[in-house]
Amino acid sequence: MRTFDYVRATSVTEAADALATRPGARCLGGGTNLVDLMKLGVERPATLVDVSRLPLDTIEEIPDGSLRVGATVRNSDLAAHPVVRDRWPALSQALLAGASGQLRNAATTGGNLLQRTRCPYFQDVTKPCNKREPGSGCGARDGVHRDHAVLGHSAHCIATHPSDMAVALSALDARVELYGAQGARSVAAAEFHRLPGDRPERDTVIEPGEIVTGVVLPAATAGVPSAYRKARDRASYAFALASVAALVRVDDGVITQAGIAFGALAHRPWRARRAEEALVGAAPTEAAFEYAVDLELSAAQPLRDNAYKVPLARALAVDVLTRLTAAART
Ligand SMILES: Cc1cc2nc3c(=O)[nH]c(=O)nc-3n(C[C@H](O)[C@H](O)[C@H](O)COP(=O)(O)OP(=O)(O)OC[C@H]3O[C@@H](n4cnc5c(N)ncnc54)[C@H](O)[C@@H]3O)c2cc1C
Ligand code: SF4
Repeated sequence: MRTFDYVRATSVTEAADALATRPGARCLGGGTNLVDLMKLGVERPATLVDVSRLPLDTIEEIPDGSLRVGATVRNSDLAAHPVVRDRWPALSQALLAGASGQLRNAATTGGNLLQRTRCPYFQDVTKPCNKREPGSGCGARDGVHRDHAVLGHSAHCIATHPSDMAVALSALDARVELYGAQGARSVAAAEFHRLPGDRPERDTVIEPGEIVTGVVLPAATAGVPSAYRKARDRASYAFALASVAALVRVDDGVITQAGIAFGALAHRPWRARRAEEALVGAAPTEAAFEYAVDLELSAAQPLRDNAYKVPLARALAVDVLTRLTAAART
């Protein structure tokens, strides 16, 4: 049994100080991912800095029409919040598509964003994995990789990011708020997670010692029709094989705003910028959706066992976009 210290932070600055001054410290949110990885020996923190009781557990409407969600808000509370359900339904749907009711009651906004990949080689300390142990190799590339990336992967890592919530935040143009020794900053959710490149051990752009303090849903996407769809092996309690979050605004028969992100296709939620550009200014027809999605997915480089993800993601995206714009076409 490995021993570790435990610090229960009572303020954001205290948490950031503890992370900065204690080598090998990790934040503890709901613990639903971190504690599992500690039991497997994948995570070996010297100190757990418990952030779950910080005063970051509120969802606050801002006068400019945006919504600030604290980092310790539980996934179930965020999914059920009436303003989220009404103004940013893709986020509520994405949260409810994830995990189970019990897990969502424990999981936090910050922890969900920072959860680690479900790659089985990453979770098995007897197997090579560049993400867990840089330079040790990638067991998945020539091994079992049915669930792995088809976009943006590298020779060093082909893992996918598992969060459903992060896919919706990316499509909705949310921002992630951070606090560390250099003070507060905010990063677009679409830029928060990284592609693996030659540093797959870094999942995000978060700097050592920084904590997530919250996310902000912008007024610019409030009330625009949005939805989340997820394909998985079981009807519930399973990670995505492919998923899509989309937002589409149609004015006078023309698409004036589009936000599309795919989940489970890459090391980060894959913001489909090429598809979005192709759609803005177009009429909301099924042909336009097929063209735009094919344009985006033409960048895919499937592996031996996961080519199925490309037509699956295509079908999900075209279906979501078609349904979202049905009212505008009648
Ligand atoms: C059986 C099972 C099924 C699941 N299915 C799904 C699914 O279908 N879809 C899905 O999206 N998720 C799924 N999950 C994952 C689940 O959503 C995550 O475990 C959860 O969201 C993590 O949140 P947490 O607060 O418990 O994080 P923790 O376990 O506490 O922490 C996770 C990571 O985040 C870091 N962290 C926590 N809070 C902060 C903060 N404020 N600032 C900086 N770093 C922080 C921790 O240090 C750790 O590295 C599943 C999990 C399980 C166990
Ligand atoms: S895909 Fe990434 S996480 Fe999985 S074994 Fe390879 S390096 Fe590790």
